[in-house]
Amino acid sequence: MFGLKADWSLEVFERYFTIGDYAGGEARWCPGCGDHAVLSAAQRVLRDEQQRPEKSVCVSGIGCSSRMPHYLGTYGFHGLHGRALPVACGIKSRRPDLDVWVATGDGDCFSIGTGHWIHALRYNMDMTLMVFDNAVYGLTKAQTSPTSPLGFKTNTHPFGAILDAHNPLTVTLGVANVSFVAQVVDWNPPMLYQTLKAAYRHRGTSFVRIIQRCPVYADAYSKALQSDPSRFLLLEHADGIAHDPAVLRQFPERRTHDPSSLGGAFQLALDNTHIPLGLLYHNPAAPCYEDLSSQGMNMTPEQKLTHMNAVLDRLTI
Ligand code: SF4
Ligand code: MG
Repeated sequence: MFGLKADWSLEVFERYFTIGDYAGGEARWCPGCGDHAVLSAAQRVLRDEQQRPEKSVCVSGIGCSSRMPHYLGTYGFHGLHGRALPVACGIKSRRPDLDVWVATGDGDCFSIGTGHWIHALRYNMDMTLMVFDNAVYGLTKAQTSPTSPLGFKTNTHPFGAILDAHNPLTVTLGVANVSFVAQVVDWNPPMLYQTLKAAYRHRGTSFVRIIQRCPVYADAYSKALQSDPSRFLLLEHADGIAHDPAVLRQFPERRTHDPSSLGGAFQLALDNTHIPLGLLYHNPAAPCYEDLSSQGMNMTPEQKLTHMNAVLDRLTI
C-alpha cells in the first residue's frame, strides 16, 4: 500500500560551519582599513566556536565600523548613532539564547553613546562589545573625536585638537559591575583573535577597545603607533589573554598583570608612558542583568495571577 511515511519531521544533520557561513556582503571599507581585520577575527571566533549563524546577531550604531552587520553572515541590526547598546540590551533581555555582538566606534560609543555605554557596562548583559577606535570620525570625513590626541588635525580642528584625548579605559574601569576590559590593536591578527575569543567566552559584557587603523583620515597617527611596538606594554598572566609566541617577540615591553586586580588595571590605564595590550580586568562573578531580571519568567499564568493578587492584597486598606 502506498501512503505517507508515519513521521514527516525533517532530519537535521549536525554540520561543520566554515568561515564562508559567516560571510555577509562584500566589505566596502577602504583598502588597508583595520576594520577588515576585526571582521576576519570575529568570523574566525564564530567558526572555531561553531556558533550557529542564525543564533548570532551583530548590532551597530553609525560610523564606518557600524557597517559590520552587513558583512557578517549572521542576523544584524544597523541602528541609530550611539544607540547600538540599548538595542543589544533589548535583544538580550528578550532572547537570552542569542549570541550578541556589538560593533561601535570612538565617536559612536564615547561621544553620542556615552550614556548607553556607561549603563550597559553596569547592566553587564552577556555580549561582546567591540569599540573600533581610530581616533577620528571617518565616515563623515575627519572630524575630531573624543579620542583624537592633542594636536591631531581634523576638519573641525585644522590647527590640531585642543584638548587631551578622553581615556575610555579609566571610564570603563570606573563603572560599577564592569566585568571584562581588554585592549588590542587591529594589526596583530593572533592577538586580536585571542582577545575576541576570550571576550566571546566571558559571560557578561566584554568591553574590547580595538586601536584601529584609518589609513585615510588618521594615517600618520596609525603609522606612528604601528611602527613603534615599544609604545605598547603587553600584559601577561595565566588568567589573561593567551599570547602566541610570535606576539611575544613583537612586543619588547611586557609586564605580568593579574586581571583580577581592579587597582592594577587602573594603574595601567592611567599610565601615559605605555599603551597596555591584553586583558586589564576580568571579574567572572559579576552578575548579569538578564539573570536577575528574568526571575519569574517561567511562571504559569495561574502563578502570575496568584502573585499579582498577593501584591495587590498588600495595598488593601
Ligand atoms: Fe576605514 Fe577610515 Fe576608510 Fe572609514 S574612512 S573605512 S575607518 S579607512
Ligand atoms: Mg572613529
